[in-house]
Amino acid sequence: MIKSESMDSIYKDLIAYMVSRNIPLDYHEEALKCQAIIERTILFRKIKDGEHIYNNVDKEDIHPKAYKAVEDTQNLIIMIKDNPIIAHYHISCGGSTQNSESVLNRKIDYLRKVTCEECKRCETFTTQINLHIEELAQKFGYSLPLDKITVFNIDKVLKVIKKDDSDRIEVLEVFGNSIDPVDFINILNLDCTRFGFRPSQITLYIKGSGNGLGLCQYGANEKAKNNWNFDQILNYYYTNINICTVEEFNSKFPLKGKKIFIDPGHGGHDSGNCTEDGLREKDITLNLSIKLRNELKKYGMIANLSRENDEYLSLDERIKKSKEDKHEILISIHVNKSKFESINGAEAFCYWGDTNAENLGKVIMDSISKTTGIKNRGVKEGNFYILRECRISGLYFEIGYLSNESEKSNLSNDEFIQKLSESICEGILKYYCNKMLT
Ligand SMILES: [Zn+2]
Ligand SMILES: [Zn+2]
Repeated sequence: MIKSESMDSIYKDLIAYMVSRNIPLDYHEEALKCQAIIERTILFRKIKDGEHIYNNVDKEDIHPKAYKAVEDTQNLIIMIKDNPIIAHYHISCGGSTQNSESVLNRKIDYLRKVTCEECKRCETFTTQINLHIEELAQKFGYSLPLDKITVFNIDKVLKVIKKDDSDRIEVLEVFGNSIDPVDFINILNLDCTRFGFRPSQITLYIKGSGNGLGLCQYGANEKAKNNWNFDQILNYYYTNINICTVEEFNSKFPLKGKKIFIDPGHGGHDSGNCTEDGLREKDITLNLSIKLRNELKKYGMIANLSRENDEYLSLDERIKKSKEDKHEILISIHVNKSKFESINGAEAFCYWGDTNAENLGKVIMDSISKTTGIKNRGVKEGNFYILRECRISGLYFEIGYLSNESEKSNLSNDEFIQKLSESICEGILKYYCNKMLT
């Protein structure tokens, strides 16, 4: 759904930034390439799911090596059948990766257990924690005996073989060797042989780091040093995947080539709603429509406009143009005005009973209000001529009120219109992706 050549041209910095952040940059370049493909795959899934992507990163945080890894793997993502995979990865697996069901409780075909000799041999990720027995007992809801004379069983460390009836120790084993208790207390400087013991600390050794799913970064680095390339590494850690370009993905992806008709309201001698200081509805609707077309284009969608410049078109001319091509939806854009200054917000109208348009409208309205802060006045049904006659699902947007001071100032701001166009585009993407996935 992302236009093939544009995935990296739009998101190169972001992908490189994620690589910089998520893998040690002194790792082998093939390992860094793996990470770049993983980050691109993760990002691609997010975009496909209609998630909002914050594509502004501080370039100073990006290492040249990360850029190189992105450039060397341009547009490559990891696929299983016709879908990008969920590209799990971790720091070090400790000797073998995990089957997905052991971690996520569901079987994912490309997340199968594979051994990782490199991690088996590696001590770097062996960590140690010291835990008091009291703490351990508390954690597991176990009550330690209060009487410290009673032996708490740690046979392999200390084992009492024989006691007399006054609880003095007569025969003692320390680490499996018999020892005279008197020698024992002399060595440890204890007062008498009436003593007990309990373990107070236990050391847990954990091998590996991370959930063990998918690619093991340490293993990837070691394999790369042994002349494996990214393709071999990714195919080792992910089962039955294939690595393909975004172009190849797009050729199968249903959003590519989807046609949308955008109708910028008014034009020519019909300025629509105006303000006293010269802000005109017809200019705002055209500006927003052009920006929206550019946004949709990034995702492979084709948007045709009823007008490209400041010209007058009758409703019938607009409808006629919408029928010149096979459009999926029509979006007519307008700006509202009220005699009450306080009224504000955006709203959408669909034709009576057009549930498709109503659902699309809801998703777009949500996206608009979430991204721009414009009040969501909802999606209403209406008997609009253009919506009735276009014969496809259509939405008629009133994207704000020129009579409201703050909306007027927003609508005269080009950056705001850009943000608005992105939010509408995002809503459209989300709607189609939801539809496709269900
Ligand atoms: Zn490993
Ligand atoms: Zn209007």
